[in-house]
Amino acid sequence: MTEKNSKDQIVKDLLDLRFDQVEELDREVSEGQGLAYYESVQISRANVYRNTLSGRVGDLAEYYDVRITVHRQQISGTCSCGESREICRHILALLYSWVQDGKDFIDIGEKIAQLQHFDHDRLIEVISNILRFNPGLLDLFFEKDRSDWDEWYAEQDNDLN
Ligand SMILES: [Zn+2]
Repeated sequence: MTEKNSKDQIVKDLLDLRFDQVEELDREVSEGQGLAYYESVQISRANVYRNTLSGRVGDLAEYYDVRITVHRQQISGTCSCGESREICRHILALLYSWVQDGKDFIDIGEKIAQLQHFDHDRLIEVISNILRFNPGLLDLFFEKDRSDWDEWYAEQDNDLN
């Protein structure tokens, strides 16, 4: 069993989030239609890291990438559907999934803890493959003074849109 770095722990606000709180938000922003939508779609690539959930919502033909952040019980999210309102049904679906099936979310902090046991050659091999297919990530290795990685990722997202 690997010990997680404390900064990689899932925050309490997420762990404490309950079904009825998501239902309440659902009622506020979509008149409660989010639940039926959640039950009709598939969630994939669901993962959690500290105060952030992300995942893919939809089916094979049509899906959206969702990212949700919880800060002091305030829920905010972004979604590739590009709907102008802040909380769309895809965001609600991922929230329902978290409170119903949170155990199925991949805990990134736990994976990071496992990386500490990878040997050097294995890490280089994995990183090389990541960079081959995502050359845009090279900046992360060779650019100095990259202070805010979340900001960096937001920029990448904007480039794609
Ligand atoms: Zn959406």
